[in-house]
Amino acid sequence: MNERRTRRHSRRSRAPLWIGALAVVLALGAFLIGGSPPRPPAASMDHGWELVLVNRDHSLPEGWDPELVTLTNGIQVDERIYPALQEMFDDMRDQGVYPVVRDGWRSQEEQQELMDDRVAQYRDQGYSRSESRELAEQWVAIPGTSEHQLGLAVDINPDTALSTGDQVYTWLAEHACEYGFVRRYPPDKTEITGISNEPWHYRYVGTEAAEEMEELGLCLEEYIEYLDGDRAA
Ligand SMILES: [Zn+2]
Repeated sequence: MNERRTRRHSRRSRAPLWIGALAVVLALGAFLIGGSPPRPPAASMDHGWELVLVNRDHSLPEGWDPELVTLTNGIQVDERIYPALQEMFDDMRDQGVYPVVRDGWRSQEEQQELMDDRVAQYRDQGYSRSESRELAEQWVAIPGTSEHQLGLAVDINPDTALSTGDQVYTWLAEHACEYGFVRRYPPDKTEITGISNEPWHYRYVGTEAAEEMEELGLCLEEYIEYLDGDRAA
């Protein structure tokens, strides 16, 4: 992932207020007749871009439009996290651990496709529509609420010819925070994050926050609460 080029994807235009209100009404209507749940309120930028909290309760910030870098395998990430990601990967390889970026930035359409595919898989296994959706949502974020849509999160897998998953995940769990990345969905925080254990999913938050989160044993939801509490005090 040494070659890089940037591109800008299309900017979302600002819609008048009544269109927003109409969208909420329509989303709510769709939800009541068994469609997708309404999109939660937009995430706050209060703590800076590195600490934007996107999850099932907070969707992408209004007008989020990162500059993207394309890695040699075609995966794209926010260019602001690229230097740290590159440095981390260089150091891993120097230590004989070989990772690959399996997924980075995703568009709204890609996220929707992932969700639809996962729901269809459960439907094929015989689950009802609502059961399938519920099961799928444990693994796939509702479109508009995935960290991948921020471009600040990466799924890191082993380069299987050279390393095992264990080697890569263990290295990351021990060292990623030194580069500003946190394991976003650890097994002991699933009740808070709402996402099952994902040892491959890392989120860039900057080194200061990453090391503090590690030290205090907080996931991003808890860390934001901690910062907000600090500010209120
Ligand atoms: Zn992921």
